[in-house]
Amino acid sequence: MTTLLVSHHACAGHDMGESHPERPERLRAVEQALEAEIFQMLARDSAPRAPREAILRVHPADYVAAVEEASPIQGRVRVDQDTSMSPGTWEAAVRAAGGAVFAVDEVMTGRVANAFVATRPPGHHAEISTPMGFCFFNNAAIAARHAQAAHGAERVAIVDFDVHHGNGTQHIFWDDKTILYASSHEMPLFPGTGARDERGEHDQIVNAPLRSGDTGENVREAYESVILPRLAAFAPDLLIVSAGFDAHFRDPLGNVNLREEDFAWLTRKLMAVAQKCCGARVVSVLEGGYDLEGLGRSAAAHVAALMEA
Ligand SMILES: [Zn+2]
Repeated sequence: MTTLLVSHHACAGHDMGESHPERPERLRAVEQALEAEIFQMLARDSAPRAPREAILRVHPADYVAAVEEASPIQGRVRVDQDTSMSPGTWEAAVRAAGGAVFAVDEVMTGRVANAFVATRPPGHHAEISTPMGFCFFNNAAIAARHAQAAHGAERVAIVDFDVHHGNGTQHIFWDDKTILYASSHEMPLFPGTGARDERGEHDQIVNAPLRSGDTGENVREAYESVILPRLAAFAPDLLIVSAGFDAHFRDPLGNVNLREEDFAWLTRKLMAVAQKCCGARVVSVLEGGYDLEGLGRSAAAHVAALMEA
């Protein structure tokens, strides 16, 4: 079965300035890494715009309208301390959410085995009504709700291995027993949430904090002892991965020291659980990753592992 790669050139049109780490070149780095021979087998599709109803399952209409209205015609508008909008931001954000929704459609209908959505802006810091930490719409959350509303998935799991905690995803699903949110992330680090005792109203939030300087060994331990058993016990109908690659040792925004082979290991372990509980259905969406070389190599290792399905 095929692995699908979803992207869109408009996602490079969101520009927060030359010195901003979440920059258009990130997508080019991923694209270049996925031009290698072994990736010729990938199915490739452009991300459509997210249907408005898909976004509205997570974000209220007045917030969506406010983001659209804040889009500048020229120049840049700052929306939080480290997040701003350029003329291309709205289109990029709607394509990033749409790519995740489209990937869910393709995987849930069995047209492909699994999918990687290489888009930006990322999503896991986006709160219900607040853009935050380079994020506007919570792409993984929108994808999870879409799987439930459009494909009848009862339980969806979101596993987040970005070096930062996905505060937005956690808050969105805090009181939702149909969604398991499990995250490994460095603490203390932005955004400050993600302590082990944050467990959600139904004990369906699983936080496995890491420490500065942790290596692949620590991360493997966190997954073997905490996240993978909880994921298997939850037995989701679909696994969504918030795939941030900023836990790579080269990354300037995190201090965890993962290597490409650690991301491949993580991917294979997650796929093994998905194989047992949900017909191997996995949709992976790009979150962070700010060292271009580390990002490209890690995303390639991740996608190569997905292709082993
Ligand atoms: Zn991150």
